[in-house]
Amino acid sequence: MANYPHDDPDEDYEESCDHDDYESDILTGIATCWRCGHRWMQTNEEIAAEHERIARYQEWSEKEERRETWRQVRSWFRSLIPRRRKTTALDDEIPF
Ligand SMILES: [Zn+2]
Repeated sequence: MANYPHDDPDEDYEESCDHDDYESDILTGIATCWRCGHRWMQTNEEIAAEHERIARYQEWSEKEERRETWRQVRSWFRSLIPRRRKTTALDDEIPF
């Protein structure tokens, strides 16, 4: 693995920061604070929580994406169907 500093040289500044805004690298388990740049190893619990959070977000965004795609496809199909004609005959041609 890459070399990560174990000791932060800027201890004074670090103490004024509670590292609330951090980015975690799920591959290495290293968290990096956005504000002071402090890096630390996350605990297994923190890593697990991060994995779960990402998985939940991905699941949610995929669901949203499917919903949006479906909505667009339907409105596209509606725009293809002439309004004056009866749509029942055309419905059989729509594959879904
Ligand atoms: Zn910090």
